Amino acid sequence: LLIVTGALVGSSGAILSYIMCRAMNRKFLAVIAGGFGTAGGTVAAADGEQGEVVAISAEETADLLKDASSVVIVPGYGMAVAQAQHAINDITKKLRDKGTQVRFAIHPVAGRMPGHMNVLLAEAKVPYDIVMEMDEVNDDFPQTDAVLVIGANDIVNPSSQTDPNSPIAGMPVLEVWKAKTVVVMKRSMATGYAGVQNPLFFNENSRMLFGDAKASVDAILGNV
Ligand code: NDP
Repeated sequence: LLIVTGALVGSSGAILSYIMCRAMNRKFLAVIAGGFGTAGGTVAAADGEQGEVVAISAEETADLLKDASSVVIVPGYGMAVAQAQHAINDITKKLRDKGTQVRFAIHPVAGRMPGHMNVLLAEAKVPYDIVMEMDEVNDDFPQTDAVLVIGANDIVNPSSQTDPNSPIAGMPVLEVWKAKTVVVMKRSMATGYAGVQNPLFFNENSRMLFGDAKASVDAILGNV
């Protein structure tokens, strides 16, 4: 029994590690031997060098969501930290009751372990049929009215495609910047796990909703 259990645990670990490395576009040894952004690559640029960020309030975000006919929600590590999954499910219910198309876009390495976001959304009872994998939803962003990024950073960083020297160069990402408007919820301009600045935050169609994700989602919920 011990040998069978050990073999199952070992092989599932190996499969998960393979999925994780492929999603990060990194070699297994590079992941084991060193962290992101710690050696080589572009150093995170200072905030001022990238342009201006435009802040948005929870009320304005709620108005944006009410006016949208298609919404994609991108959860990341910050949603897990803030435990905002239940409140975001309540917003989803309200919007869907009004006829808005709401879907979740899940990056394979969102959070800190494979399947992290799927577990949290399942716990909050988000319907499975609106939870999409990256490849299922990435082509739909140009037709999306509003994207809500909840505590995600590296997984929506366009520099993985534009900066060959970036530590995350080549990592497949959710192309949220192609949507009409993107609202990013986070507490500050701090970098994510990879330690690189995110040009998404400075785009003309991006808005920053600063604060703890749970507090922000609760404030939006009160206004949708
Ligand atoms: P990131 O770590 O890139 O970004 C998370 C963001 O959440 C931060 O920038 C932070 O910004 C924000 N945040 C943290 N706490 C809160 C809070 N309470 N409220 C609101 N925002 C918050 O996470 P992603 O999910 O985008 O990407 C995952 C990263 O982890 C990738 O680089 C991936 O390679 C790596 N990784 C993933 C593994 C996996 O298997 N899933 C395993 C190992 C690594 P601020 O501080 O400003 O709030």
